[in-house]
Amino acid sequence: MEHQLLIYNTLNRRKERFEPLHAPHVGMYVCGPTVYGDPHLGHARPAITFDLVFRYLQHLGYKVRYVRNITDVGHLEHDADEGEDKIAKKARLEQLEPMEVAQYYTNRYHTAMEALNVLPPSIEPHASGHIIEQEQLVQEILNNGYAYVSEGSVYFDVAKYNQDHHYGKLSGRNLEDVLNTTRELDGQEEKRNPADFALWKKAQPEHIMRWPSPWSDGFPGWHCECTAMGRKYLGSHFDIHGGGMDLVFPHHECEIAQSVASQGDDMVRYWMHNNMITINGQKMGKSLGNFITLNQFFEGSHEKLTQAYSPMTIRFFILQAHYRSTVDFSNEALQAAEKGLTRLMDAIKGLEKIAPAAASSVDVKNLRTKCYEAMNDDLNTPIVIAHLFDGAKMINNILAGNDTISATDLEELKETFKLFCFDILGLKKGENGSNAEREAAFGKVVDMLLEERAKAKANKDWATSDKIRNELAALGFEVKDGKEGSSWKLNK
Ligand SMILES: [Zn+2]
Repeated sequence: MEHQLLIYNTLNRRKERFEPLHAPHVGMYVCGPTVYGDPHLGHARPAITFDLVFRYLQHLGYKVRYVRNITDVGHLEHDADEGEDKIAKKARLEQLEPMEVAQYYTNRYHTAMEALNVLPPSIEPHASGHIIEQEQLVQEILNNGYAYVSEGSVYFDVAKYNQDHHYGKLSGRNLEDVLNTTRELDGQEEKRNPADFALWKKAQPEHIMRWPSPWSDGFPGWHCECTAMGRKYLGSHFDIHGGGMDLVFPHHECEIAQSVASQGDDMVRYWMHNNMITINGQKMGKSLGNFITLNQFFEGSHEKLTQAYSPMTIRFFILQAHYRSTVDFSNEALQAAEKGLTRLMDAIKGLEKIAPAAASSVDVKNLRTKCYEAMNDDLNTPIVIAHLFDGAKMINNILAGNDTISATDLEELKETFKLFCFDILGLKKGENGSNAEREAAFGKVVDMLLEERAKAKANKDWATSDKIRNELAALGFEVKDGKEGSSWKLNK
């Protein structure tokens, strides 16, 4: 495949040329949601980032198998090995069957992702459907001497592993750092070393999600699922493993250790991580009162939001930052994104009005080349968007008669916008947040009413004329009477 795609590999801390193991096939695994609550911005960013990777690799001609899991078991509250299972806790609070909770929030997640125009992955495996594969993984690690059984639970022996391999190579930590930052939690006495992590947990009597195993009735540790399901669907070596930066440690570090301890080497060639999201400069958190779900953004129904933001505004806003940079959400920043997106979409509509000339005074090829160069440079979407804005300027200049474009170049310009705006960035037409098309339809109705009002005025029927004006005003349409007749505008 002819391309120059560079992607940043977290493992080696540098941009590397992307070369799949078995071209034209590409295997990509991304950590999906833990389904115990409504999807929020923290779900939107990795989903959109890896949707972009998925779309671009397919555009380059690869056949991509994209696996994104659903965590419906084993993800404990404190991300350590203690605390209650997040799904089971929600189920207990709401008096539901755990699978009912998982299904409900999986459906909500899918609906939100569809609104954001995130393509569904090729396979979406559930952790609870792969208990046998996870038990096999645990057994292999035990057989190789890198795990031990304690009180019916199985723990990964980090110190033993670290003698033979490097625990911490992805996150850049060493075992000492890990020990210094490990919190002392209840139940640690089962472990030989506080840095050890659970591969299998014995279920307490009140624990509802449990499966039989050679060690106890229990459930797998959170890190097992991605190693087991990645290997099952993508093979023992595959190309890309992705997720949010917050997963680098411990989740992905533990995945590497599990893979090396079970099969002798790392399964993954390129580790990719998207950066995090803040809201008005703060980390998003329930206790800070800035925990905003995607639906609340779409409906404008959170006290921190001054208006609703369309899914495409959210998507565009996220893509305006490089995936490895942080993104800070604020009303001002989202409003700016909404305006920018409207400007871009208006320019694309303008493409249809252009009449080709005999020759071009604009350089369309250069625009297309620059968009590719930016995508190939570790998916630099803010630069792609900047070039598309240059393209929008080009369109407006042609429409204003300041530039000309030949028929062939016009086709290429249309194709460039279709490719980068819609196919690769995944934006959708007519959903730019300004509701431009709906406003145009309402506008025609208002025009009709103003014609009726003009007739009433001509007949000196002032009562009807005033009534129409006042009722329109009550709906937010301000009517102005001028020499040339009446005009209106919509006050939001
Ligand atoms: Zn994972």
